Amino acid sequence: MSHSLFPIPYSLTAVLLLLTSFTSAMDVVTVKTDGGEKTLEGEIIVNAKDGGIVIRDAMNFLHPVTPDNIVNKTSDDRPFAYSTASEIKEKMLKELPTGFKVFESKHYLIFYETSEAFARWTAQLFENLHNVFYNFWTSNGMKLSEPSTPLIAIIFADSKEYVRFCKDELGEAGASIIGYYSMQSNRVNLFDLTGADDMNQRASSRVSEAAKIRNLLAQPDAGRMVATIVHEATHQLAYNSGMQVRYADMPRWLSEGIAMYFETPNLKSSSGWGSLGKDNPARLRLIKQRLPRRNPEAIKMMITDDALFTNLEVAEEAYAEAWGLTWLLIKRNPKKFVQYLNIMSEKTPFVWDSSEERMEEFEKCFGSWVKVNQSFVSVMKSKRIPR
Ligand SMILES: [Zn+2]
Repeated sequence: MSHSLFPIPYSLTAVLLLLTSFTSAMDVVTVKTDGGEKTLEGEIIVNAKDGGIVIRDAMNFLHPVTPDNIVNKTSDDRPFAYSTASEIKEKMLKELPTGFKVFESKHYLIFYETSEAFARWTAQLFENLHNVFYNFWTSNGMKLSEPSTPLIAIIFADSKEYVRFCKDELGEAGASIIGYYSMQSNRVNLFDLTGADDMNQRASSRVSEAAKIRNLLAQPDAGRMVATIVHEATHQLAYNSGMQVRYADMPRWLSEGIAMYFETPNLKSSSGWGSLGKDNPARLRLIKQRLPRRNPEAIKMMITDDALFTNLEVAEEAYAEAWGLTWLLIKRNPKKFVQYLNIMSEKTPFVWDSSEERMEEFEKCFGSWVKVNQSFVSVMKSKRIPR
């Protein structure tokens, strides 16, 4: 199962928040670090009344800073601008361990230390997803914007390197999470589960790209790998297209539901991906297994808060139900779903809604949760698990 990690390094007090107006000036903040001080440049997007801030840098990385760590804060007349693709490449290759290369596609920069065939395949998958994602939502009336910077993915050769590099965000859980979208860095981090590097060394240059990818998709972990890559890349698109807002109160069932709506693999296709809205065999199987014993208030609980997703005993079931709920609501009336997404896209970072507000916004778009629940149960009962 793929799980996204949404670390919240600094909880700003919701009621004590002032939003900064967006100006083009460059904010320059000197902050304390473990070993001394460093300077952050960018735009302050959140000013908390306790003095804490969140600053967005040119790489679209968000830095939350507590008031006691701010040494100095000024701004100057230089306009804030995002890094260009070539600036990002230069900065990233400096930051990553040696041996990384970059593969550039229309909307993505893929930094990789596996084979070029794998990086190219990933880029094609991402571009395909990008098109499908934008077409689907805009054709249903959602106004989306293009990402401010090229989207970044990092593919580590193996789990050891990945866990070492991502340990600040992943902690002890690292080894069990095969990929994630980081809300802070705005990047997708993955490692190559299939041993594509070995495969590439075995395969001589006479072997076609298509044959390399066929080999790749024949690996036992390929389905899980495709689902994870698409799932995490969908989170990244949602947070970079104006659909969702980083560090705002996005209901977890919704964020995960959208990612799962797109993730279903299809190992018979050359990309390994099955497109959006397909019945998700792994999620559906779990829902059907649990139907006789399921908590009749599960949907209500998911609407009003995110606790089910952080309780390891029930999280997998909550993911499955979030897939089912999202699938049902989109299929039933995609325009209403977009209406709900539009409400979410207006949210402010670090402001948390009450349970009542969350329920009210849900029912305004989808009607009574009790009726939604009834229809969830009958639709899931009637579904067959695809082979
Ligand atoms: Zn996720």
